[in-house]
Amino acid sequence: MTENSSGSSSPCSADLDAAANPAAAVNLSADQGFGCFGFGSELLQALEAIGYREPSPIQKAAIPELMLGRDLVGQAQTGTGKTAAFALPMLARLDPAERKPQVLVLAPTRELALQVADAFNSYASQLNGVRTLAIYGGADFRDQIHQLKRGVQIVVGTPGRVMDHMRQGTLDLSNLRALVLDEADEMLRMGFIDDVEWVLEQLPEKRQVVLFSATMPAEIRRISQKYLNSPAEVTIRQKAADASLIRQRFLMVHAPHKLAALERVLEAETSEGVIVFARTKAITITVAESLEQHGYDVAVLNGDVPQAQRERTIERLKSGQVDVLVATDVAARGLDVERIGLVINYDIPFDAEAYVHRIGRTGRAGRTGDAILFLTPRERRFLGGLERVVAKPIAEMEVPSNATINQNRLDRMRAKLTGCLQTPESSEQERALLSEILQRVAQEQGSSPEQLALAALELALAGKPLLLQGEENFH
Ligand code: AMP
Repeated sequence: MTENSSGSSSPCSADLDAAANPAAAVNLSADQGFGCFGFGSELLQALEAIGYREPSPIQKAAIPELMLGRDLVGQAQTGTGKTAAFALPMLARLDPAERKPQVLVLAPTRELALQVADAFNSYASQLNGVRTLAIYGGADFRDQIHQLKRGVQIVVGTPGRVMDHMRQGTLDLSNLRALVLDEADEMLRMGFIDDVEWVLEQLPEKRQVVLFSATMPAEIRRISQKYLNSPAEVTIRQKAADASLIRQRFLMVHAPHKLAALERVLEAETSEGVIVFARTKAITITVAESLEQHGYDVAVLNGDVPQAQRERTIERLKSGQVDVLVATDVAARGLDVERIGLVINYDIPFDAEAYVHRIGRTGRAGRTGDAILFLTPRERRFLGGLERVVAKPIAEMEVPSNATINQNRLDRMRAKLTGCLQTPESSEQERALLSEILQRVAQEQGSSPEQLALAALELALAGKPLLLQGEENFH
């Protein structure tokens, strides 16, 4: 990521030659990286513990402004480090002795609210008495009231639930120092903007307002002009090179063959976690059902999935219980799961920005990733536009052939067998029982160890043919 239009430079670059001066060298760590923002030692220790060495460009640009108490408009996407850019100065300026909410963050989804609250918690790990609470719809109201009564300084919530608590008097914002609107364009898209304005109207006059948004639609500009006080402006564009860890390909397929092509791609690509993006809720269901029938562990994430289930689904995806997640764009917004190795654009995204966001669900945390875009012949004309935005060619791939799939099936079978030999999954007791069965069958049938092993492998196929045969023309 690059391009900081605010022109802010690192506030302590002058201290970087401190090594030449022994007196300053003692303070070297305080003058480098995060040391130059004026954070307390507890905050710096927490950052060191989680491995943040250098501030990201948005952090370099935004933190000095926010430490001065200025309002700020930041144009930045997930993955730029925007959460720490606002969370760290908020924590640094907080009064831990004051038990009422001092910072409120509004986020479009429960998932993002939880992520932001987690980030606050990890940065505040060394700060005594600082508590963060995530409040969102779908979770127990009374429990949230109980937590609020115990005293929290930072509240991260979705607009609707925050409003409910404010109306009911269970969220007292009279001591609020700062409001952060995270992913403001997404809140607009999801229809929360009236709620956000209502919250803004209720806040104390003297407060800091920070607005982060990936894009700046007119409505968001209007909000920022109306409610922010001469804000600092910071723009961080996602550099195309950020997608350099992601291999991008496209596949031409007629609409009626898409499901079959998807199944083939999944069979041919060896990847840990997969997200399949579909345009509508109905398509997510059709795709998921079809994959389930083919033996995949599938989960769906769309606007109809209740919040509580959504969170469980993401946990299952993270832990590897689910291999394939079929999602709509909005539902997958902000999803940050490291083990996603492949993103399939089953339906073409609405625009280039959505494409960049979708493929950005893979290649997280410095890993490599794969992205495959399904295009029907009529959609081919959109390819050039996408290539321009990601600033690299998207290579064509074929629907995987029977030969490729079959080779992959054999390889997988061999790998599974080897894995099972090296690290058996069943208990010793179970293995003793299995061994007894083997001996008995061998005796009764007079079969050799190889015949037995073959029969066991066939059993493992569970009725699914080992090799794929037949039609492979999907054009
Ligand atoms: P965000 O854009 O806030 O969603 O952050 C993206 C990821 O970058 C998160 O996993 C953060 O923990 C991580 N991150 C943020 N700032 C830094 C930093 N200065 N150094 C290393 N990792 C960071």
